[in-house]
Amino acid sequence: MTHRKLNFNAGPGALPADVLAELARQLPDHDGLGLSLLEMSHRTPEFEGVLDDARDTLARLYALPDTHEVVFLQGGASLQFAMVPMNLGDGGAYITTGVWSQKALEEARRLGAAHEVWSAEAGGFRAVPGPDTLLEVPAGARYLHYTTNNTIYGTQWHHPPRLSCEAPLVADVSSDFLSYPMDLGAFDLVYAGAQKNAGPSGVTIVIGRKDVLRGFSGDARTPTILRYATHATNGSLYHTPNTFGIWVVGLVARWVERNGGLTGMAARAQAKADALYSVIDARPDVFTGHAERGSRSKMNVTFTLTRPERERAFLAEAERRDMIGLKGHRSVGGCRASIYNAVPTAAVDALADLMRTFE
Ligand code: PMP
Repeated sequence: MTHRKLNFNAGPGALPADVLAELARQLPDHDGLGLSLLEMSHRTPEFEGVLDDARDTLARLYALPDTHEVVFLQGGASLQFAMVPMNLGDGGAYITTGVWSQKALEEARRLGAAHEVWSAEAGGFRAVPGPDTLLEVPAGARYLHYTTNNTIYGTQWHHPPRLSCEAPLVADVSSDFLSYPMDLGAFDLVYAGAQKNAGPSGVTIVIGRKDVLRGFSGDARTPTILRYATHATNGSLYHTPNTFGIWVVGLVARWVERNGGLTGMAARAQAKADALYSVIDARPDVFTGHAERGSRSKMNVTFTLTRPERERAFLAEAERRDMIGLKGHRSVGGCRASIYNAVPTAAVDALADLMRTFE
């Protein structure tokens, strides 16, 4: 590839150039089979090999215990906002730290009772609960749901939530999936839309306890396709899955593995985030970070121009330097640099350089 933009898109976001090259090479003729994976039945040994490899590589990356399994679904993370309460049942507890966790809570309330444990709304969504904040979870809560990284506000959990009583953990890990080692064995279920760190849009990764996924405890009227058990017991082949998406997720997971695994991703994420936050901190006259320091995201760096009238000029200069995707989400404005795994350090350095010199 001769020319690549410096891609700071929030999602779909940057994919590794190696993976794109591999896709381009294999797309017309998959492994010399004389047909594209796009033209192949999902019920063939060839596709099943692709599916198994994606599933196994993700499990290996996370050292997933035997009690847990990986399922590939469709419908984005947004469908999971509904599937979680539909399958796990009424009475979930929710921590609201941003737009997406708010939507998850709304969906649960549409279906039944759900309890909001904590909300960052009054504080302008600048922080997640601190490591010492004791969160009052109602006794007997069916589960506790939170969003590990808040894509829009640029805040992230760097510690597990501290709960007043134990509850099964459920997390939306969409925008920091594959970016650091995480003990998925501690969760009943996590889900991620692939289009940030893991692949293209249209495939959702659900990783959960086998007994939870296969042991349906929701409303008997829940349609077959909206039950985790349907997909888990059929090995993600209950119906035609997003074959292309699963292929790409597998290639990205292999790329992560070749590049230091999740600890390698975490080290790079830290260095890239430090490069941007250090300029924000050094130039309060020019930039104002949105997130409180302890809650800063290593995936989505959100900031405003201290003189808002300069924002347009800043974004124009970034564009002139081939940087795209830096405009903040339409609901909050300002700027956002999404620095997912596949965003090269050199791209982040170029942005840091612009921020250091922008007048
Ligand atoms: N959760 C988070 C944390 C997200 O960032 C997003 C999308 N940006 C969603 C959920 C919604 O995902 P989807 O578009 O895949 O439904």
